[in-house]
Order: sequence, then C-alpha cells, then structure tokens
Amino acid sequence: MRRLWRRSLSTRVVVSTLVLSALVIGFTGWALLRDVADGLADSRREVAVAEARSGFAYAQGQLDSAVDTEAAPQSESLTQMVDSLTVARGTTRTYELVLQGPLSGERSPGPVRSSSGVSIASLPPGLVETVSSGDGTYWQFSDLSLSDANDREAAVVVGRQLRAPGTGDTYALYYLFSMQDQQANLTLMRNALLLGGLAMVLMVGGVAGLVSRQVLDPVRMARRIAERFAGGNLEQRMHVSGEDDIARLSTSFNQMAASLQQQIRRLEDLSRLQQRFVSDVSHELRTPLTTVRMASELLYDSRGDFDPQTARSAELLKVEIDRFESLLSDLLDLSRFDAGAAQLELEPLDLAEVARRCVDHPLLERAGIAVQLQGVDARVPVMADPRRIDRIVRNLLANAAKYSQSSSILITVAQNEDTTSLSVRDYGVGLDEDEHLRVFDRFWRADPARVQGGTGLGLSIAREDALLHGGTLSVWGRPGEGAEFTLTLPQQVAAEIVEVPR
Ligand code: ADP
Repeated sequence: MRRLWRRSLSTRVVVSTLVLSALVIGFTGWALLRDVADGLADSRREVAVAEARSGFAYAQGQLDSAVDTEAAPQSESLTQMVDSLTVARGTTRTYELVLQGPLSGERSPGPVRSSSGVSIASLPPGLVETVSSGDGTYWQFSDLSLSDANDREAAVVVGRQLRAPGTGDTYALYYLFSMQDQQANLTLMRNALLLGGLAMVLMVGGVAGLVSRQVLDPVRMARRIAERFAGGNLEQRMHVSGEDDIARLSTSFNQMAASLQQQIRRLEDLSRLQQRFVSDVSHELRTPLTTVRMASELLYDSRGDFDPQTARSAELLKVEIDRFESLLSDLLDLSRFDAGAAQLELEPLDLAEVARRCVDHPLLERAGIAVQLQGVDARVPVMADPRRIDRIVRNLLANAAKYSQSSSILITVAQNEDTTSLSVRDYGVGLDEDEHLRVFDRFWRADPARVQGGTGLGLSIAREDALLHGGTLSVWGRPGEGAEFTLTLPQQVAAEIVEVPR
C-alpha cells in the first residue's frame, strides 16, 4: 500500500480527493442535520406548548366550575376531566396526560391519574420540581416510554399547576407530546443524506481518477520516451496533439531531444575524428619508427667504437625510441578501445598461477621488492583473456616497482560464487585523495619527479582491459601507507559484480 502511495500519483490524487470530499460532505451533512433537527424540535415544541395551554385553560375552567368541597367527589371529577381531555380528541390525539395531586395538604403528593401507563417517576424530575413550585407553564424535552411498549422515544413535556377553588388544593397537569414523527423524518433525512453523500464521494473520487488519468497518461508517455531516449534511442519523440499544456510540454521535450541529439551527434563525430586522427598518426608513425629503430640499434650495437659522448647519445637514443615505441603501441591500443574494436579472446585461466608467476618478475627483482602471496594455494579458475590479464598485472607490478618505493608487496587472489579478484598491495608512498581520482586518467602522472619513463597511459589501458571483461580496476591508497590496486572479474563475462571477494 505504502509503495503504491509513494509511486502512483493517481492513487494519491484519488485517495486525497476521497478523504477531503468525505470530510467536507460529512461536515456539511452534519451541520444540515443539526439545523433541521433543531428546527423540527422547535416547531414541535411551539405547537405542543400552544396545544397544552388551551388544555390547561379548559382544565382550569372545569375545576373552577366544579363546586365539590370534599376530597372524594373532587377526585372523581378530576378523573373524569382527564378522561374527557383525552377522549375528546379521540383518535387524532397526539399526547398523553399525567395529573398529580393534590400537591399540598396532608395527603400530598396525591394520587396520579394518567391517560396511559406513564408514571410520574418517568417524567423529568427537574420539570416536576419546577412545576410543583412555580406558577407558570414549563416545558422540557425528554426521552420517555409513552405507550406500553418499553421503547423510549423523544417527547416534549409541558406542565402547569391547576388550582381547585373548592378545596383550595393544587394539582400538576403534564402534557406529553411524542416527537416520533419528527424523529422518523430526521432518520429518513439522515439516511438519504448518508446515501447521497456516499454516492457523491464515490462520484468525486471517480471524477478525480478520470481527470488524473487524463493528465497522467501523457506524463507517463513522456517518462517512457525519456527513458528510451536515455537508453540511447535518440530518435524517440513525443506525439503532439492539440495546443494545451501537455502539447506544449511535448513540443518543448521534442525540441530538447532534437537539440540533445544534435549535440551528441556532433560530439560523437568530433570524438570519432579525434580517434581516427590518433589512430592514423600512430599508424603513420610506425613505419618511420621501425626504420629509426633499426638505425638506432645499429648505432647502439657499435657504441663501443664511438667516443664516450657519441656512445652515450646512442644509448639515450635507444632508451627514448623504446619509450616512443611503447607510447605508440599504447596509443594504438587505446584507439582500438575507443573505436570498440578491442577483442576478447577468452580462455580458462588460473589466477593463482598468474599471481605465482609474479614472484620472480624481473622488474620486481631489479627493484629489490619481496613478494608475498595470499590465496594462491588452490586453483582460482576464471575465463579471461590471458594476454590482457598479463598486461594488467605487469602494469601493476611495474607501477609498484617504479613509483611505490616499497620494499615488499602483497598479492592476494580471492574468489566467491560470482567474482574473482586479484589485488596488488604495496607499502610505499601511497596516493592522496586527489590522486585517487586521477590515476586512471590518460597521460596523468602524480608527480613529475616520480616519473621514471612512464607515459601515464598504463593504468588507463589496464582499466579498459578490466572493463572489457565486464570487470573493474579500483584503487585504494593513503599517503605514506601505500596503495592497493584491485582487479575484479565476474565469473561470467559481462555479469554484474555484486560483492568484491576478500
Ligand atoms: P605509466 O604508464 O606512466 O606507468 P600509469 O597510468 O600506470 O602510468 O600510472 C599513473 C600514475 O599513477 C603514475 O605516474 C604514478 O604517479 C601513479 N601510481 C601508479 N601506481 C602507483 C603506486 N603503486 N604507488 C604510487 N603511485 C602510483
């Protein structure tokens, strides 16, 4: 769910719209219902109070005209009055009556006469107290069970004192008006509002979904096209229809794509031109260089016949021509990488064997560097191009010999399920932060003072060789603590390297 919320804009739009519209509609419905309920209750109360007043006047009139001065006949006429008040309206009667009294005298509070089974105890006690102590007409809303059924229902109770002039007793007469009709109306309305509100919320959600789709479909299309464009398909363009914002977005996107494509093509052409230039120059230089080399070897071989100065020149000439030749072959190699023409010739290879062979490498011997080996006891088989792996390892050893000034190196070979690695660790001058980033740059040398005939191309070629295998060549180093170069090769060429084995 959380993923859907995070990834899908339309889900977010629809869910937020649903929640917000439900809140708004819920609040409006609630306020509406409250107003209607108040209105219904008020009008019912007004009618009830008016009806009760006329009843009170009639009852008082009855009492006034009665001349009983004895309690027993008066009680009788009171019962008759209650009956007449209730029977008079017959079936259209919408109220019940409760008469309590006499309220004063030795028999107080007197017996209760009721048109139904309503007892005085079920009337709101506050109202009973106000009526028995006050002189006016009082009312209150209450929940009562008016009929024999035990369900309580909303009702408005109106009460007033009556005075019997004959005996001087006071009585309390209560009118109980049911509000069931109002309640039913309110329930009906609440249900209608609930259903209507729900339908409205769903409808608004649906509309939000539709609208968001209308906007999002082109955006999704733009994303797909941008992905394909980023994947190298530079011909991809968006379909433009109409003149709305989406159409303008598509037009701008297409313009951007066209301009990018143009720039990329221009840069590609330029780079191709440069590669061709380097490759052509290198090729062109090879033939004269072979001649010069032959001549220089002739001079070098007969340097014993020359005077010391000329002999020294012949030696320098040979060294520089060697350097020139290796630079030229490096350049040719690089231009082959750049042109995508470098070929891998894979063979089964034992990396432990490669590491073991390093021990008596003449370069290391000459520099007096001791070699320690780790992880070379068992076979470490890989599929790789032996010529290129040799070139990488040779370069790492030569660098250790030339630049590290370390007296020993450690060569470690390791393998896990999908990756094989070989690292060369020295304990010499090391590399600082900036040098780290630049060691693989073409023609880069850390410090001209450290340069011992290198061209600055060795590591860039080694890295290209590693990349050609689908592997990597990485570096670790700290000034004064030495450096470590690690070659990692995937078990299958072009498989992804997940974790470097240790
Ligand atoms: P070259 O082909 O001239 O040897 P590389 O590309 O192999 O050049 O190396 C580039 C630079 O990286 C070197 O000039 C040297 O300054 C630095 N470097 C390479 N290996 C080491 C090492 N083991 N310790 C310190 N510096 C190194």
